[in-house]
Amino acid sequence: MRPSKRTSIVWIDRDTRLRDNAALFQAFEEQDRVVPVYVHAPESEGDAAPDAASRWWRHHSLAAFDGALRARSSRLTIRRGDPLEEIQRVAETTRARAVYWNERLTPASRRRDAHVRTALREDGLDVRIFRGPIVHDPDRIRTTSGGPYHVFTPFWKKLKQEISEVRPLPAPPVGPGSAPHAWPESLSVDDLDLLPRANWDAGLHAHWTPGEEAGLDRLEAFIDADLLDYETVRDRPDLHATSQLSPYLAHGDVGIREVWASVDDWVQNGVMRAAADAFLRQLAWREFSYHMLYHYPDTTSEPLKSKFQDFEWVDDDELLERWQSGRTGFPIVDAGMRQLWSIGWMHNRIRMIAASFLTKDLRVRWQKGAAWFRDTLVDADLANNTMGWQWSAGSGADAQPFFRIFNPVTQGARFDPEGAFVRRWIPELSELPADCIHRPWTASEEALAQANVTLGETYPYPIVDHGMARKAALKAYEAVK
Ligand code: FAD
Repeated sequence: MRPSKRTSIVWIDRDTRLRDNAALFQAFEEQDRVVPVYVHAPESEGDAAPDAASRWWRHHSLAAFDGALRARSSRLTIRRGDPLEEIQRVAETTRARAVYWNERLTPASRRRDAHVRTALREDGLDVRIFRGPIVHDPDRIRTTSGGPYHVFTPFWKKLKQEISEVRPLPAPPVGPGSAPHAWPESLSVDDLDLLPRANWDAGLHAHWTPGEEAGLDRLEAFIDADLLDYETVRDRPDLHATSQLSPYLAHGDVGIREVWASVDDWVQNGVMRAAADAFLRQLAWREFSYHMLYHYPDTTSEPLKSKFQDFEWVDDDELLERWQSGRTGFPIVDAGMRQLWSIGWMHNRIRMIAASFLTKDLRVRWQKGAAWFRDTLVDADLANNTMGWQWSAGSGADAQPFFRIFNPVTQGARFDPEGAFVRRWIPELSELPADCIHRPWTASEEALAQANVTLGETYPYPIVDHGMARKAALKAYEAVK
């Protein structure tokens, strides 16, 4: 007698891709019929639920993934509601006996996954869960005393020993033969209402193409054109020097193993090895941030270093609003904040400067900055965002010491020496000469007039005196130190 066909569900959470997708690959390997299902349930994602810019990205990721599946005679079944109930319903209508998914490792999804796994197993379904968004296993990488790492460099050393070879899986053999008898009922991506009603997404459209294909193209273009110089110019926001792969990684349009292996495979000599390692080191910061989030889930809202609980923050919504809208009067900060608003992304160096400015010069709590980033970044990632903000505020693991307070003028002059980045995002300053573009309040009246700048009108005066703000921040720090 022929065995009856086995049907399984692949629960797609963020991993909207065919390649380097362990759950999808194994389901197609092991089962006869496969039903990929996305359940829209932002409440089950907790702090990792997509906010405005990421909702925009997710809409397009889902559409691209569904398109890729349909081109292979499959499709994405889209549901909304409680993930467990929706999966149970789809399992019932398709007679699926197994459910596969990739773990996501954020605090809310870990709780959710544990609950769904137990309930599905009680229903008699076979549940298969695969390694998710990172290459290391946070339970396995431990210090010699058995605890999690708190310092990046030893973590990175250990990571290199543990993961000698990272290999992505190829795309699974999706085809007409693996379709169920009848596809379950599905919403369309549009039904999820992820796109903004107000028209603020033109900059996102102009800058980005979400989805796996575009992400892989970007990876290839970066390796071909920019990787060799990455180490030396990655801190320069005025140059196209970094990969801009972050939203593809954050949404799972491209898998981390795919990126890691492509960079490793490119290496042919010592110079290339150094360039590749500089890039892999940044990917390792991402691993480290997931390591921290896994072991310290409360750090999304609480400082890792508890002394910062008593830090005296300034509760002033006007300061926050001036920072958000790029009107602090410090051009390097304002250019970054406007870049963020326009394209949903900001260069890493500028994220560090802007975050330092908010938490130290303005002494606004880092959680407010993190919330704004979460809302406006297309690459909003709970682990990286939490680590970035705690690092900048001085309260995180291996953080920037609190007393190292970035001077926005010298940082601007160092990393944007000609002022091209500022000119690009603050057109009203574009005519200022390079020697005063990062401190327009020191420009002569003549220089300001020639550049058509009227301080206080066309561009604001600095919102604080950096020297005084620095002293006040250090005093507040002394009180908790
Ligand atoms: P590349 O330089 O090309 O690096 C490649 C990849 O490595 C990135 O895509 C990213 O996944 C990872 N990476 C690079 N730098 C870091 C870093 N410092 N920490 C962790 N991972 C890193 N990154 C996010 O993906 N999402 C966030 O929400 C986020 N919030 C941040 C908030 C603050 C305050 C700071 C200081 C940093 C934040 N970062 C965040 C980290 C970093 O700024 C971005 O990952 C990076 O700018 C993305 O650009 P890229 O892809 O061109 O990076």
